[in-house]
Amino acid sequence: MCDYTQVEYCCQHFRFVVQRWCSVYERTNKVCAPNVTHLEVRHDELCSDCRPRSPPAWEHMIRRSKRATPYI
Ligand SMILES: [Zn+2]
Ligand SMILES: [Zn+2]
Repeated sequence: MCDYTQVEYCCQHFRFVVQRWCSVYERTNKVCAPNVTHLEVRHDELCSDCRPRSPPAWEHMIRRSKRATPYI
């Protein structure tokens, strides 16, 4: 079995990070049952799915016209 670290985020999601592939995996290249050896708690972090995407840096440079364009 391969050794995994279970990472717990503040959004209650878990991620499994492999620490060490076992010899079975190295021989067969097949992922076997994970053996969780460590629990890492990151309660000040969101997982990659819940992390808000930061707006692009150039967003504030877009000038929006204040004049309403009347439809003719
Ligand atoms: Zn394994
Ligand atoms: Zn999450």
